[in-house]
Amino acid sequence: MKKYTGNPVSPGIALGKAFVYLDNNTGEVPHYSIQKNQLDSEWSRFLSANDEALAELTALNVQTKQEVSREDATIFDAYLMMLEDTEFQGKVRERLETSLQNVEWVIKELSHEMSAMLMASPDPYLQERAVDIADVLRRLVNKLLHVQKVTLADLSEDVILVCRELLPSDALTMNKARVKAIVMDMGGATSHTAILARAFEIPALVGLSSASKEINTGDMLIVNGVSGELIVNPEKNVQTEMDHERKHYYKQLKELRKLRDLPAETRDGYRVSLKANIEIPEEAEATLRAGCEGIGLYRSEFLFLAAGRPTGEEEQFKAYSHVLEIMGNLPVTLRTADAGGDKLLPELQLSDERNPILGWRAIRFSLSRPELFKTQLRAMLRAGVSGNLRIMFPMISGIEELEQALAVLEEAKSELRKQGKAFAEAIPVGTMIEIPSAALTADILAEKSSFFSIGTNDLVQYTIAVDRGNEKVSYLAQPFHPAILRSLKQIIDAAHAKGITAAMCGEMAGNALFTALLLGLGLDEFSMNASAIPRIKWVIRNVTQASCGRLAKNALRCTSYRDVGRLVEDWTLSELGIKNYDALPGGI
Ligand code: PEP
Ligand code: MG
Repeated sequence: MKKYTGNPVSPGIALGKAFVYLDNNTGEVPHYSIQKNQLDSEWSRFLSANDEALAELTALNVQTKQEVSREDATIFDAYLMMLEDTEFQGKVRERLETSLQNVEWVIKELSHEMSAMLMASPDPYLQERAVDIADVLRRLVNKLLHVQKVTLADLSEDVILVCRELLPSDALTMNKARVKAIVMDMGGATSHTAILARAFEIPALVGLSSASKEINTGDMLIVNGVSGELIVNPEKNVQTEMDHERKHYYKQLKELRKLRDLPAETRDGYRVSLKANIEIPEEAEATLRAGCEGIGLYRSEFLFLAAGRPTGEEEQFKAYSHVLEIMGNLPVTLRTADAGGDKLLPELQLSDERNPILGWRAIRFSLSRPELFKTQLRAMLRAGVSGNLRIMFPMISGIEELEQALAVLEEAKSELRKQGKAFAEAIPVGTMIEIPSAALTADILAEKSSFFSIGTNDLVQYTIAVDRGNEKVSYLAQPFHPAILRSLKQIIDAAHAKGITAAMCGEMAGNALFTALLLGLGLDEFSMNASAIPRIKWVIRNVTQASCGRLAKNALRCTSYRDVGRLVEDWTLSELGIKNYDALPGGI
């Protein structure tokens, strides 16, 4: 038995036999010289292969558009553009003439050069496009060689696909009913294959470095797309245990999905709003499938991180508009960049910080670079025309920072007004409460905020002085700590006293262990990873606010996080009528 940990990019649990897929991308390509008088025949071979590949991909493109969402379906548009690109065709012609090599070889060389160029880019998005280039040009070579590609469409038994890298066209054409999970050495959450795996709801792990070399076809595998765990040839008892967990997971998922269109309302009619946290625009559509009522946190800095630099106004405008359009009338909360801390941007010298967590990050960074900040705000305001926009500022430590940020927002508006550009004029502007000084002055901040969003990940980190990324002290990061409870109460009460919404977008909001307590404290809005929404809704619909209120009162009297934990656990289990947390649908 061997264990690996990968990056879970598509949730679910699967148990099955490995099929190690080594595609024929590495297949031999013949290499020979041609005479000048063969140039025309070599060129017409290229043109007819190009036409064939074009026809095949056009058909695939139609199929994609029928099978997957609008966003995912654009993958093959880029492939088609490549085959129709006269500049690329000109390059092939020129290389044929200058090198006098056979056309398969010329294409192979061009493919390597173009991929290498993209791979050398610091931009992960461009790096991932190298895979697309290799895929489309490999099809072309196969057409020239009349190679019938070994396709995953022929899979006739259930498998767990193990590969170094799965090309998007393989992911699309594979027999999806037979692929129970995908395990990949390479890849990131934004690779097209990961996006397709999510769209097809096939559990997937990426970033397993060398697993495809160590796993053999026929090995028994357990893939946990929730925890990231991959177990090879598990012992019988582990296998039985995981099979049980898998069945349980899917049974509950089915049940939970029935709640999709029901309100997040307690048994005594207390209604809250469940929203989603997203990092990349491509996630927006999945949040709707999970039944969320909007985006409570869009971590805009991921746009900068993906590009390795702050992106320009137009690029940002497109990304934000895309999310707003998908979400329609539902609110979309765009958080201005929280760069710095653990989200480093070398281009901005953000990596030179001696103490980055307490240093130049988030709103501090934005306010020190007003032009960058204003560019982001202009892009957000303009995108606001496409939907229901809310903006919020991260890491506000006090009223001065909030006022400064609001002033830059006004400047951005007046610039847009002068330029006659369309933008959303009256939008709610919220403050993230994630620093103890903000929590302690919540009443003051509420005067200038349309809503609060509590960032418990940082609030716990700064209140208890426990680095959220340090395993050695992680036992101290206790949201049940009385200091956190008092803080939450103070923030929520301050919001309500001023008649504004108290939302939470830290991980605490998506953890069922805390749901009753947060309801009892009066939280209005919970924002979390979309996959957690159904189970949090289940908890909410199975309790009463009155009883949660009594629980919160008792919890606030406890003197230690252990006591609070015990109290909440006992209460939750008895209130929900379950024996232990394992019995909670979808896990904690
Ligand atoms: C938080 O701190 O809880 C939060 C949501 O922000 P981030 O995790 O992006 O720091
Ligand atoms: Mg934070």
